[in-house]
Amino acid sequence: YDDRDGSIWYDGEMVDWRDAKVHLLTHALHYGSGVFEGVRMYGGQIFKLREHSERLINSARIMGFEIPFSVEQIDQACVDACAANSISDGYLRPIAWRGSEMMGVAAQKNTIHLAVAAWEWPSYFSPEARAKGISLKTSKWRRPPPESAPVHAKATGLYMIATLSKHDAEQAGYTDSLLLDWRGQVSEATGANIFMEMGDGKLHTPIPDCFLDGITRRTVIDLARSRDIEVVERVIMPDELANATQIFLTGTAAEVTPVGKIDEHTYTVGDLTKTLMADYDKAVGKVLVS
Ligand code: PMP
Repeated sequence: YDDRDGSIWYDGEMVDWRDAKVHLLTHALHYGSGVFEGVRMYGGQIFKLREHSERLINSARIMGFEIPFSVEQIDQACVDACAANSISDGYLRPIAWRGSEMMGVAAQKNTIHLAVAAWEWPSYFSPEARAKGISLKTSKWRRPPPESAPVHAKATGLYMIATLSKHDAEQAGYTDSLLLDWRGQVSEATGANIFMEMGDGKLHTPIPDCFLDGITRRTVIDLARSRDIEVVERVIMPDELANATQIFLTGTAAEVTPVGKIDEHTYTVGDLTKTLMADYDKAVGKVLVS
């Protein structure tokens, strides 16, 4: 993704895509001290931009640093990054990180940087996989407890577990992986939250006490409730996956993506899933190409 035309908003300026570089001794590269966002623009409008910018600032605070730009400036950087690349439907990647002045675990005085890249990215999972439902393999890696990692920050370091899990799933022929938490409870996929229907017409989803309470997750909960669909946030154990009839993932990149298979269990892309996919498309202002 580095060798292409375009511009990236970098510490307050637009720089050429190819020149948007960091030094080798960047603290974030060595010690995982970065925080980021995944944001989408639909038809020229950025969906829930303020919530994403606020979460970025909050993730940085959890990591012990202050981003040297206000929430308004971060919002504007996102708008500018889209405009500079003529994007009206695309994905944005704001990222903030500790810089390279000091090398060592402690780097309290290092400059905090902020950049925003934007590009066209229609579908996180392939359209074919989305139509029949993606497949998930339960990972051997588990999400850590809140006492062991900053689990409520969208922090780069936490994605080490996601990459290990997703590579393992892909090598076994699956699309993505399902992570359990340290207690063995169902938590989420590598970059999306999970919901299931279990034959009672309700939506069941795990309590986000050790993973991100996604902006899409909250949007879908609101959409379901406005249709009088009951949403139950509760502990879900992996043996319950056998009783689920429909399962889907939610995330800014993933949007609402049906799951057709988890390990040996299979699921249908049922009406509840289709309804919420359509409601979500409408909420974000997606123009549907039929
Ligand atoms: N969990 C993880 C690990 C994620 O990376 C994401 C994507 N940001 C989500 C959940 C979903 O969050 P959101 O709906 O805010 O994109």
